[in-house]
This record gives sequence, structure tokens and C-alpha cells, in this order.
Amino acid sequence: MSAPPLRPVLAVASECAPLVKTGGLADVVGALPAALAAQGWGIRTLLPGYRRVLAALKRPRVLADWPDLLGVPARLLAAQVAGLDLLILDAPALFDREGSPYLDPAGNDWPDNDLRFAALSRAAALIAAGAVPGWQPELVHLHDWQAGLAPVYMAELGARQPSVLTIHNIAFHGLTGEHRLAVLGLPEAGFTLDGFEYYGHISALKAGLTGASALTTVSPTYAQELTTPDFGMGLDGVIRTRGAALGGILNGIDTEVWNPATDPAIRPFTTPGGKAANTRLLRAEFGLKPAEGPLAVVVSRLSDQKGLDLLLAALPALTRCGGQLALLGSGDRRLENAWLGAAAAQPGQVAVRIGYDEALSHRMYAGADAVLVPSRFEPCGLTQMYGLRYGALPVVAQTGGLADTVIHANAAALAVNCATGITHAPGSVPALEHALTLLCDLWRDRPAFQRLQRNAMKHPVGWEASAPLYAALYARLADKTTETA
Ligand code: ADP
Repeated sequence: MSAPPLRPVLAVASECAPLVKTGGLADVVGALPAALAAQGWGIRTLLPGYRRVLAALKRPRVLADWPDLLGVPARLLAAQVAGLDLLILDAPALFDREGSPYLDPAGNDWPDNDLRFAALSRAAALIAAGAVPGWQPELVHLHDWQAGLAPVYMAELGARQPSVLTIHNIAFHGLTGEHRLAVLGLPEAGFTLDGFEYYGHISALKAGLTGASALTTVSPTYAQELTTPDFGMGLDGVIRTRGAALGGILNGIDTEVWNPATDPAIRPFTTPGGKAANTRLLRAEFGLKPAEGPLAVVVSRLSDQKGLDLLLAALPALTRCGGQLALLGSGDRRLENAWLGAAAAQPGQVAVRIGYDEALSHRMYAGADAVLVPSRFEPCGLTQMYGLRYGALPVVAQTGGLADTVIHANAAALAVNCATGITHAPGSVPALEHALTLLCDLWRDRPAFQRLQRNAMKHPVGWEASAPLYAALYARLADKTTETA
């Protein structure tokens, strides 16, 4: 008997691994199609045709021609890449550029980001309304502000499918001026408190928050936090009005790519003891001395969110007890310089690489005793999950998805041998110092530390638990629409 056909879903995002990635959003958008296919849902992912995305396509097919998509000529292409079923918005005037998805080569936001991602959202609505011959989604899954305007355009075009908006980070609102209403093809009637107006501006994220049928975010704790003024970044009121429409579904990681037993970037291992060769190589690669203390790593964007200024202040608590730190990251120039300064001041103890290097990040998790994630807020976080999988104990701020993925090594958890890491209060240097001191203390008892590492390596971090939750949400929304149609 053949399997029933997959139910069609359109996903809309500005990044998708392995094609284009600036952060965890790309990993999640890239992983969901395979995870949901196993649950009966066939996701096609709509992405902007950035220069490097177009370069990666082999024999794309043209599905639609739009001579005037919000004022620019565009085509819709279809292609398969790395097992992903992609729809690409080829609009050279918007996307054929050097630089990152959001920034020009000098590091500034592209001045027309509002139009670039409005066009992406408009294309999603056109597809929902039937622009692709022979294929129409039952449901549209939107990711972050870049897809937030889609429900507005869908309503205008009469596309009645339900939509889910997943919030990966509420810090980014997609704001632009009221004077852009006409350029973005948005109805004046939507520029209200209940629509996409935000303190006199247009907010693409708010359009999604008010217009999508359901909202999700990437961890249960972040879902609760988003309803509070401390974490809602000015949108907590809007989220509270949506009430039960918001749920938290924890991200998973790709456990094939991130598998210490088979990872081609490292010396493979299956037990904590098997990490030793990787630790030696990592120390050598970063110019760190042999040491009688834990080797901790950080792999991160350097931004205020990540709390790496707090870590700089707390660092003596680690180095005093013989611990070492290797950091890989890039972003905020001030933080880059501060960290380069710390490395210069403590050669052999603290080492820093400024840049983005996927293979090096694998070697770091493989060699490290601990991975530090001292974020002020963290919707889900992926690096602590790579740490778990590679036996690098996560030392994390107790916030968002970090709180949902790490079991703190307190006396109770140690007594029943279920601890997988260390958690500390977010935003506090003394709390971080305390956590680093605890790491050193735990590390000194080698057999006990290896028990923690074994717990960490066993902790489930794939999509097994979360994919069925997305599938159930899709089914609830799509079946309801079918019933009422
Ligand atoms: P965010 O999306 O806020 O940046 P996440 O922890 O959710 O944080 O995801 C970050 C992703 O980017 C992870 O896959 C991490 O390994 C990767 N990453 C971040 N900075 C670097 C870097 N400098 N080099 C390699 N990988 C990086």
C-alpha cells in the first residue's frame, strides 16, 4: 500500500540552512521540512532569491512571472536543494546584491528592507491564492517579521488558508514609516491599533501577530516570557490580546549533522572519554596551554542579547581556577575589540577568533568541557543543544529555551543523576561568576563530571518531540478551515 500524499504547506522565511544562514532561524527552517514530512506534511519553502541562493540552484523551473510585484519585476522559481523543496522569489532589483540577507557590505541595514520582505510576503500571498499551477497550500507557515505582512496580503487577495506565525526573536519588529503604505501596497484600513500600526510606524511583525491564525514561538518558557513587559519588547500587550493563540514549541537540532560519532569535522567519539583527542587539538588550534581546569567555549553572534559583556566581567572566576576560554563570534565591533583585548591580556588562557566558521564550531563543541550561553534573553538557543550532544556541559542563563533544555546540577539533580549542565540567573555578573566557580568544582571530580557529560550526551535534542506538536497544530488549523469552508 502506498503512503498517503503529503498535505501541502507553504513556509516563508528569509533564511534557510544550508543555503543562507545568519542564525538559528536558518537551522530551524532548514530542518522542519524533513521533520514534518515524517508527520504527513509536505513543506515547500519560499525564500528570497539572494545572489548566493540563485548560484546554488541547479536547473530551476519558472513557475510564475510577475512583471510588477510591488513595483519590481519578479519571477517565481522552483528547485530542489539538499532535500528541500524550494520556491525562490527571483527579483534582482531587491535581492541580487553583495552582503548579508539584511545588511550591506558596510554592515548597515539595506535601506529598502521593508520593500524586500514585503515583496516576499506578497509573493507568499499570491502563491496561497493559487499562483502556482497545480499546487496550493492548505496552510501557510510564516517565520519572523520578514514574513509578517503575508496575512494582510492574503486577506486582500481572498486567500483563506490558515496561517501560523513563528516568532524566533521578538527583538526584530520590521518597522518602517507610515509614508511607505502605498509603496508596500498596504491598505490604509490596516494602519490601526488592531492592525499593523505601531506607535505611528508600520510593523511587519505586528501585522503577523494580529493577522495570523495562530502564533508559536520556539520554546515554552519564551512563550510565557513574551507576555511580560520585560521580554515582550513593546509587543507583550499585543501578544496578551492573542491569549491562547500563542504556544511554545521547542526547537530541535539536526542530529545527523550534529552527531559526534560520525561528524567528519572532528575525531569521532561516543563517550566523554573519547573527547580527549579533540580537546588536545582544540587547545593547540587556539594556542591554549595544557591546563588543570575546564576548557569552556562560546560560539555566538556578538550582540547585547548574548550577555558576552557580562561574561567578560565574570571571566576571572573561570581563569582563577585554571579554566580557559575559546570564543568564536562576530558582530558588534565594540564587543569584538573587548574580547580581542581580553585574549591579548591573557595569552594561553583566553583565545578569540572573530569570524563565522561552521567547521570550527564543530571542533569547539567536540573539544570543550563546557559551552557558555550567558544570554540576557534567548528564545530557544541552539548552541547549548550542540553542547549537550557533544558532551560540552551547557552553562546557561535560566531564560527562554535555555531554561527548557538544561537540567541544573543542583544537589537534587546530582543525587538522582539527571543533571545535564549549570543554569544561572540571567543578566547578573555575580550569578555567572557563581556558575563558573561551580563548573570548576564539578570538573575537578573527573568521574562525576563524566557522569554529567554522559547525561548530556543522552539528552534528546532532535525533532522527535516537537515535530508532532507542529503537525498537530497544522492539522487543527487546516481541518477547522476545511470544516467551515
Ligand atoms: P541566534 O539565532 O540568536 O544567533 P542560536 O543559538 O539560536 O542563536 O543559533 C545560532 C546558530 O549560529 C548556531 O547554529 C551556531 O552554531 C551558529 N553560529 C553563531 N555564531 C557562529 C560563528 N561565529 N561561527 C559558526 N557558527 C556560528
